[in-house]
Formats: sequence, C-alpha cells, structure tokens
Amino acid sequence: MLALVTGASKGIGRAIALELARNNFDVAVNYNHSMEAAEALCNEIRQLNVKCEIFRADVSIQEEAAKMFGEIKASMGNISVLVNNAGITKDGLLLRMKPENWLAVINTNLNAAFYCTQLAIKDMSKARYGRIINISSVVGLIGNAGQCNYSASKAGIIGLTKSVAREYAGYGITANAIAPGFIDTGMTDILKQEVKESILKNIPVGRIGKPEEVARAVMFFADEKSAYITGQVLAVDGGMTMV
Ligand code: NAD
Repeated sequence: MLALVTGASKGIGRAIALELARNNFDVAVNYNHSMEAAEALCNEIRQLNVKCEIFRADVSIQEEAAKMFGEIKASMGNISVLVNNAGITKDGLLLRMKPENWLAVINTNLNAAFYCTQLAIKDMSKARYGRIINISSVVGLIGNAGQCNYSASKAGIIGLTKSVAREYAGYGITANAIAPGFIDTGMTDILKQEVKESILKNIPVGRIGKPEEVARAVMFFADEKSAYITGQVLAVDGGMTMV
C-alpha cells in the first residue's frame, strides 16, 4: 500500500514517513524546499525494502498539489494513506497580526489539507478503501495567545476531518486527526527558553514529546485494522489537554 506524507523532509513528517515504511508502506515523500533532506530520507526508507520517491510541491497551491498527485499516480500508483502534515507558524498577537500572516498560515495548514484530501478521495472511493490522517494541534482544541491564525487553522482541520469522516464512512475511508502537544522539531526550536519552560509546567508527563511518538499515533490510524475508528481527534501531548 502507498502512503503520501506532505511536508515529510523533516520533523514530525519525517518520523511519520519512516514509521509507515517500517510497517511496509511504500512512501511518497512530499517536500517544498528541502530536496537534499527529502532525498536522504528516501534513501533511508529504501533500505527498509519498500518503494520511496520524492515529489516537490507547495501543497498550499492547488495547481501544484494537483500536479504532484498526477505524478505520484503515474510513478507509484494509487494512494491508500494520506497524511496531511505540512504546516507553518507565523505567530503574533491579534492586534499586530498582519493579514498576509493570517492567510499564509490558513493556506498552508488548512487549505492544503482540503486540496490534498479532495485530490486523494476519488481513487480512495473507487478502491473503497482509504486512511486520511490530519495533523492538527492541541492549540486547535484549546487556543493559544499569539497564535490566532495557527489555532484557527488547526481547529479548522478538525472540522474538515469530521466532515470527511461522515461523508466517506460508507466507502471504507476513515479520516482522523492527531493533536500533538509540544514536540521537539524545528517548529519549536525557535521558541525562547522562558516560553519553553512555561509550556513544560503544563505538561503532566514533564517533558517535550518526540516526533516518533506522534508517528506511532499516525500508524495506529493508518492500520487496516483501525477500520472502525473515524472522525476522532487523538491528542499526543503528554497529558496537556486531558479533560
Ligand atoms: P517542521 O517545521 O519541522 O516541519 C514542517 C514541514 O512542512 C517542513 O518540512 C516544511 O518544509 C513543510 N511545509 C511547510 N509548508 C509547506 C508547503 N506549503 N508545502 C509542502 N511542505 C510544506 O515542523 P513540525 O513540528 O515537524 O510540524 C509538522 C506538523 O505538525 C505541522 O502541521 C505542525 O503544525 C504540526 N504540529 C507540530 C507541533 C510541534 O510541537 N512541533 C505541535 C502540534 C502540531
């Protein structure tokens, strides 16, 4: 079976691509800028005796996403598992938030997931099988000062997930979301030490999460045997958002 992971060259996407490969999935690795990192990942994946190819596309641009889906189909076949992982932050307090920073984050984190889901769903419907896994965030559940654009995009992706889950439940397609907490990647590296320390105080497990821990949860939803689980949001957050 073939899995596509968007924004897979580093961080959580990279760990997801590797975990899927370890579980015998062929992997289409999407990247936007980091071709060398994507190639290195692909070489690592091929060592696991599964197929892997890299595909450049800015998935926030529908035409680029569509072109990529055509290329994947031509060279690797139909996609069974789609992981909408590509994401960015452009933080700022509400009053100072520039419209272009609002739009850039919504385009990448939410609109791209819509484009890729729409592009994947036709073949999944025909095959009467599919797994769609969207990477949301705990801030899509609880909000975060300084991240109104990012939180809105990550809350939006939960609505998208649940609607797709309802619309395609009869086609053997599941759609689920993962809400990571504070995970050790380039996205969180840039935070100031005092910000990191104050976040840590709110994590019952008492540490930052690893990309591999998010990847495990993705693998759980990607499994054929998870057919009866759809429209769910699983927090991988060290207990940060438990109710
Ligand atoms: P990261 O910055 O290491 O990786 C993000 C990847 O997405 C990069 O490879 C980047 O090139 C790619 N990307 C961005 N825009 C793209 C586009 N338009 N087209 C194609 N690729 C694009 O960050 P990460 O922490 O690995 O983030 C992965 C996902 O996890 C994101 O959706 C992020 O919002 C989410 N997330 C991360 C955390 C965390 O604490 N790190 C927490 C919650 C959710």
